[in-house]
Amino acid sequence: MKLPELPYWDAVVIGAGPAGSVAARLLAQSGARVLLVDRKRFPRQKICGACWSASGLELLEAIGVRSGIDALAGIKLRQLHLRSSCANLRVPMPEGLAVSRAAADTVLVQYAIEAGVRFCPNVRAVVEPTSENTRRVRLHSECPGDLSPMGVEAGIVFAADGLGHSSLCELPEFEQQAVKDSHIGAGCTTTDFPASLQTGTIHMVIGRAGYVGLVIVESSVLNVAAALAPSLVRQEGSLANAVTAVLREGGFPAIPALADADWCGTPHLTRREPRVAAKRLFVLGDAAGYAEPFTGEGMTWAVMGACAVQPLAQRALRSWHPKMIWEWTAICRRMFGRRHLGCRALAGLLRIPLAVSGVGRLLGMSPYLASQVVKVMGRTPGTEAIKRSLGYELQDSRNGHCCSGAPDQSGGSSGTRAESYLSNRPAG
Ligand SMILES: Cc1cc2nc3c(=O)[nH]c(=O)nc-3n(C[C@H](O)[C@H](O)[C@H](O)COP(=O)(O)OP(=O)(O)OC[C@H]3O[C@@H](n4cnc5c(N)ncnc54)[C@H](O)[C@@H]3O)c2cc1C
Repeated sequence: MKLPELPYWDAVVIGAGPAGSVAARLLAQSGARVLLVDRKRFPRQKICGACWSASGLELLEAIGVRSGIDALAGIKLRQLHLRSSCANLRVPMPEGLAVSRAAADTVLVQYAIEAGVRFCPNVRAVVEPTSENTRRVRLHSECPGDLSPMGVEAGIVFAADGLGHSSLCELPEFEQQAVKDSHIGAGCTTTDFPASLQTGTIHMVIGRAGYVGLVIVESSVLNVAAALAPSLVRQEGSLANAVTAVLREGGFPAIPALADADWCGTPHLTRREPRVAAKRLFVLGDAAGYAEPFTGEGMTWAVMGACAVQPLAQRALRSWHPKMIWEWTAICRRMFGRRHLGCRALAGLLRIPLAVSGVGRLLGMSPYLASQVVKVMGRTPGTEAIKRSLGYELQDSRNGHCCSGAPDQSGGSSGTRAESYLSNRPAG
């Protein structure tokens, strides 16, 4: 993929996961000229349990992208199967959807392109440290042979580049510290798995040093995603062996094909007090600090953040003010602070064998209690408020209150909006 042809953009969005694609689309719908880049070639796989929660699906519906995801023939999820050395529970859950990240993320990118976003895959972005009247981003083509980077200027930048936010490597204030003992992620897919694995069920196997989620996605592919203590991986010698050890400990049938699968790993999953904004820069999704994935809400959080940042981003495009850094920090804390803490507490609990067996027994004795717990876990507080505000804001921006451009034939938004923003830029 070629680097973009233009050096000036209203917004550059780094990372085409759910946070980046949705944020880019919503901003383009308000008339901004948006460039979306991802260092990977699309479709790309991503380590993830691949499960959209009921709240996440409602949010996708509210922003008008649900039908594209539904069309992927993902698998409706209706049951959670929790398995550990002392519990074996099957609990009904609010209806979710299992769909591969390769397919779902490609659809979200497609929606962004249709809204006028210019998408450049295979392009790695690095945000430059200084910012005056624009933010400068260096783009490096990942295609062999394309050597010289290109600099682009943007009114605002969204860093939605996932765990570790590599695009911010030159900004010392964004250096992240992983939480001690935080798990790492691991994942693979296979078509060769035991018949005991049921379609429409999330199989969650809990061990002392990690947990593994198994779910069948479209085309009868088994998606395997795990959070593992680094010490377990070291001890077992590979990601595949570590996952097999967790399955064995939980009394789950072995999956021999895991030994030959293509495994990928992530850095530590949980970050300490991450910074989420700087001048003309907003950090979204996992890049803004992920917690461990047991409750499977990461994609919903990513989309929530992409929606919540819109009013601020539109104001920043009209006129940047330093207090916007504080505003975005406060919004993130309000939306995710307690949820992150809850996830960390749960992750801590899962490391205590006595607690796991106690909770397992309790839930096993009361199917009603178990179904209520799963129901609570399947709902993401805050999505209702986002949906309500979206109804107003989307309508507001479509009425032209924010920006005035419309998509053009070339896949970018029309020159009008960009020119008007850029011509309003203060000199310097
Ligand atoms: C083991 C595991 C299981 C999980 N299970 C679930 C689940 O079942 N349900 C759920 O909702 N969530 C789950 N999650 C969490 C979910 O995967 C993330 O929260 C979600 O992907 C975050 O989306 P994002 O858009 O912030 O980032 P990502 O989806 O990570 O996208 C970031 C993108 O940025 C790109 N990028 C990175 N650096 C650069 C750069 N310098 N320049 C350009 N592009 C760059 C990457 O290629 C990537 O495409 C799980 C996570 C893990 C680790």
